[in-house]
Amino acid sequence: MRGEEIVCKSKIVVIGSCNTDMVVKASRLPVPGETILGGTFYMNPGGKGANQAIAAARLGAEVTLISKIGYDLFGLQALEIYRSEKINTEFIFTDQKSPSGVALISVDSFGENSIIVAPGASRSLSVEDIDKARSKLEEADIILMQLEVPIETAEYAASIAKSYGKKVILNPAPASVLSNSFLGSVHTILPNRVEAEMLSGIKVVDADSARRAAMVIGEKGIENVVITLGKDGAYVKEKEEYTMIPAKEVETIDTTGAGDVFCGAFSVYLSENHTLTESVEFANAAAALAVTRMGAQSAIPYKREIAL
Ligand code: ADP
Repeated sequence: MRGEEIVCKSKIVVIGSCNTDMVVKASRLPVPGETILGGTFYMNPGGKGANQAIAAARLGAEVTLISKIGYDLFGLQALEIYRSEKINTEFIFTDQKSPSGVALISVDSFGENSIIVAPGASRSLSVEDIDKARSKLEEADIILMQLEVPIETAEYAASIAKSYGKKVILNPAPASVLSNSFLGSVHTILPNRVEAEMLSGIKVVDADSARRAAMVIGEKGIENVVITLGKDGAYVKEKEEYTMIPAKEVETIDTTGAGDVFCGAFSVYLSENHTLTESVEFANAAAALAVTRMGAQSAIPYKREIAL
């Protein structure tokens, strides 16, 4: 239509967790058996699946989130948030027997934290649920997943996606041991340093160790490996080429959720037919902006804010 911009968005399906983060700040963390008085209590929406879905939606993709919530207030609140982010919630299933996932987070005055995640309903996302959402996998440009849902469900979804010829992006968090058959369905794996060490047995401390870790991970049958290195950026193995792509220099306020923004942004740019290197540059720029702001979901940038 004349005068109206017609934007054709790429389609991304995110398979992962929805949690509510419950944060208490205190002067120090309690020792076992101790009760201490804390300061302010905050409740924030979180979960890697939800964070990455919101990042992909804000950065320009049409997003469907496949996930599971409990039949409770936390789950209903989370659904409201995703709808306000224009995420398709049709395949967020409700588990009548389990509570929604929560993360109990204590933070001391140095910013050090201790976290217990009670995954609740996220742990019951099943292969049958994935089957119900097959049509979405078939029409997606990219499928993005993490490991806060059962590994067998993620592996099943990856194999279906691969059989449809789709690109599967795996953020292997939390760090886990994965079968070669799962990894063989993955187009690009996006571990951080800890996850890269878990997958390769190599402690990642610099570009040289990142290169060796990427090589070992690649030998498990994955063409593309992108290891995120915090303020140093990301190390990329694309087929037989190795490149270090530096992060943007910014004033860091809070790095919570930086990896989730990176994964969402990378997937959006790749789904728009940019190269792997361009997608990492875009992801570095989006994640750098996120670390200049407080919080996880509240810090996720919009496409119009990203300067490459
Ligand atoms: P995670 O949050 O999963 O541990 P990283 O710490 O590796 O992941 O960060 C993910 C990405 O976020 C990095 O590759 C980089 O692009 C960006 N990033 C993280 N910390 C900073 C920082 N201090 N300055 C600029 N960019 C950062």
